[in-house]
Formats: sequence, structure tokens, C-alpha cells
Amino acid sequence: MSLTESLDPRFNRLILGNAQIEVLAENCRWLEGPVWFADHGLLLFSDIPNNRVMRWCAGQVSVFQSPSDFANGHARDREGRLLSCLHHGRAVTRRELDGRVTVLADRLAGKRLNSPNDVTVQPGNGAIWFTDPIYGITTDYEGGKQESERPPALYRLGPDGRLSVAADDFIGPNGLAFSPDERRLYVTETGDQFDPATERHIRVFDVEENGHLRHGRVFARISPGYADGIACDEAGNLWCSAGDGVHCLSPEGETLGKIHTGGTVANLAFGGRHRSRLFLCAGTRLLALHTNTRGAHEPFANRP
Ligand code: MG
Repeated sequence: MSLTESLDPRFNRLILGNAQIEVLAENCRWLEGPVWFADHGLLLFSDIPNNRVMRWCAGQVSVFQSPSDFANGHARDREGRLLSCLHHGRAVTRRELDGRVTVLADRLAGKRLNSPNDVTVQPGNGAIWFTDPIYGITTDYEGGKQESERPPALYRLGPDGRLSVAADDFIGPNGLAFSPDERRLYVTETGDQFDPATERHIRVFDVEENGHLRHGRVFARISPGYADGIACDEAGNLWCSAGDGVHCLSPEGETLGKIHTGGTVANLAFGGRHRSRLFLCAGTRLLALHTNTRGAHEPFANRP
């Protein structure tokens, strides 16, 4: 199956002419939340409506955790521990090295979070940033209908353990990614899931030393479909999920090229031995494509 569409000569240096899209897993319900474990050579990813987290390792697919509390997005902290966004549990958790689970955030000012969607870790200071839209509590399919107690928001859990609202002018804050220099934070706005006319775009913020965000602005709009999960490569290009696969955008927001998968991609992550393999959560299937770029460094790989 093919494949790539170059819209800018710069894209030709990011992809491999003879690399194919590989199907690593299929017959799932709806995949999101891929996270790479270089130390084990495996990828974890969420099959949300099936209430399970899957594991791909050495060509084999198996169940990592079931039930998963309808886990969605994942990341690893600076110690390499797994962070999970739980729709049904309405929390962000950390899996300790002995397997115990610690709740890192589940409420603010006495009000419960909605359904944390996606999470990323700021490499330099270990701050945990996550989004909290209502998608996981508006249907039974991806978590279970529950009442919302707080408006959708982007949160920052500081290295001191303090949880704060970083931005609250979203309808549906979703995927998020830091630029390699950590001076920019990209956040996708995926709007009202029941309103086709809702505004959907990728926003970018300048990140200050103290963790405050400044100059929030629309970075790009993705069509067809919209961007859910996003990931930066080492050069600062933003790889965005889209209705027809993946779009690669320059740091200036120009579309450099596309990967056509024949359908919607919801989330993506760089992984593999050199972080140059792009794993795609594409509906019921997990796909992968070797590229000629590398994902921005993992937080725990940056530590001195
Ligand atoms: Mg998402």
C-alpha cells in the first residue's frame, strides 16, 4: 500500500522511497495512545472501546492490560515510568517500577477531571502536561457517561506536584507535543465531537521558564479531517494525525508532505531502535513506517 505525497522538496529528505507501510496489528476497535519502550523494544497502545492496552513486541501483539479503565494517551516520565490518561478513571496515573499505580491527578479544587486524553512530559524539568476534554464521559463507548464537573482544559502538573490550569479556552483540548527546544507547546483543538461544524485546529503556545504559556495562536488546520495526536521530530517538524493519514508540517506551519494510509489516523509516535519508525494508530489497525528523521528526544533519554 502507498504512500507518501511530497508537497515540498524538504519532505523528500524525511522519508524513504522504498519504505512501506506495515500493518502490525488489526481487528481492534479504535486505537490511540502509542508509546515506545526502547529498553524493551516494545510499543504499548490503547484499544479504547475494548477497554484494554495492547503490546506490540518483536512482531507479536498481545494484551498488556485489561481492563484498562479506558486508557487513552500515554507517555513516559523522566524515570521511564509509564504515564496513562484514564477516561473512565478520570485521572492521570503513573505505573511504578514495582507495578503499583499512583494517581498523579484526578481533581482540582475538589472537582473531578473529565477524561484525560493525552499527556506529554517536558524534558528539561519533568513537568507533566495533559489535556482534559469531555470525550471519555459523553459516551459509553470510550469510557462511560458521567457528569462533567470542570470545563475542558489543558493542565500542567509541575515538578513540585502542583496541578494548575495552563489554558482553558478550549472546547476539546487533545493531542500535545513539545518542540525539541521546549520553547513551543503544540496542542490540538478537536472541538465538539457531536458538531461537524465545530472549529478544529492545531494551536501553538510559547512556553516560559516558569511554566506559563504565552501568545497562544492557531498554528495550522488539517484537512481532510483534523489532527488528534501529534509528534515532533528532531528538526522541529510536526507530524500530525489526519483524516487521510499523516501530514508533516514545518515549524512555520507549511505542509511538507503527507502519508496516505487510506483512512483516519488518530495518534502517532516515533519509536524503534533509532526513534525513526513512525507508529500510527489508524482506526482498527496499528501501522508503522520507517522514516529518515527521528522523533524528538524522550524525556528520560535527555537526562545527564
Ligand atoms: Mg487524543
